[in-house]
Amino acid sequence: PTILAIESSCDETSAAIIKNGKVVNNIIATQSVHKKYGGVVPELASRAHQQNIVPVVKAAMDDAGVTKKDLNAIAFTRGPGLLGALLVGTSFAKSMAMGLNIPLIEVNHMQAHILAHFIDDPKPRFPFLCLTVSGGHTQIVLVHDFLEMEVIGETQDDAVGEAFDKCAKLMDFPYPGGPLIDKYAKEGNPLAYVFPDTEMQGLNFSFSGIKTAFLYFLRDNKAKDPDFVTKNVNDICASLQHSLVRMLMQKLKRASNETGIKEIAIAGGVSANSGLRAELTNLAGEKGWNVYIPDFQYCTDNAGMIAMAAHYKYLTGHFSPLDVSPEARMKI
Ligand code: ATP
Ligand code: MG
Ligand code: FE
Repeated sequence: PTILAIESSCDETSAAIIKNGKVVNNIIATQSVHKKYGGVVPELASRAHQQNIVPVVKAAMDDAGVTKKDLNAIAFTRGPGLLGALLVGTSFAKSMAMGLNIPLIEVNHMQAHILAHFIDDPKPRFPFLCLTVSGGHTQIVLVHDFLEMEVIGETQDDAVGEAFDKCAKLMDFPYPGGPLIDKYAKEGNPLAYVFPDTEMQGLNFSFSGIKTAFLYFLRDNKAKDPDFVTKNVNDICASLQHSLVRMLMQKLKRASNETGIKEIAIAGGVSANSGLRAELTNLAGEKGWNVYIPDFQYCTDNAGMIAMAAHYKYLTGHFSPLDVSPEARMKI
């Protein structure tokens, strides 16, 4: 089958074409309007999606040499995400499926982040564990099959991507600050400063404590030296990143011990982080894990992963009615 997939859950408008299980392209328009506000402004996101969606879909179809009559289904992100943003992709996909009289396929954004692992080789074998780390989620997912997944641990407050971005904002970095922390961290000493871990029960996480600790850390040091951040930015970023990655790895190790599973994947925007990637590669050697790290373009929001999920749903006949509505808090 040839499927057009659309992603519009947050601040990326994206479209992709998948042909017989091969993702042909992955067109992404990242919205820059949010930079000056230090975070995604929902109303502005919806408007930018409305402006971008037609050219982005057209680019994906033209690039793949696909016309409307070649399409067998239209897929879209139903949730979770910003309701107004999701509405743009949902309405567009519905109209197109209705106009062409072909099936409509809803995709869960968090399942799709995980299924991004099936776009390229090597592919994880079932069952595997996936640490999903993004701007809105931090989960350990036990993946039994393509469409059968179980959340066995998750954050009780902030997502780890949110912790990266909020701490970056405290240092006056533009949004999203996660990639900048990563960049400065490469030149810094990860043991220069110590931030306390928040201990959570079982396989759950908490990232609001470290954000508060970081706020006081900056305040106290800036009181002594107003140029504290500028002078020590590399060490600060390296130490913060080290703490966040350590908290993730503690629970991932525990999940692997408890389930006996050594097939380990990471997904979501924060899986682009080089500290996390390096630590995971280390652990692979130490623990005998097979680790799976997605290509950069499939870490943050993209329609390629929506297309991959849609392919499996198409093969198993999981179609949606034309009156389907987006769901901001959709569960896996
Ligand atoms: P969700 O998928 O939970 O709905 P989202 O779609 O906003 O949330 P993604 O687009 O998957 O999240 O990821 C964006 C997040 O990834 C941001 O918080 C961003 O700072 C973070 N991020 C991206 N690259 C890096 C990096 N190299 N290091 C740390 N964080 C990063
Ligand atoms: Mg995003
Ligand atoms: Fe996402």
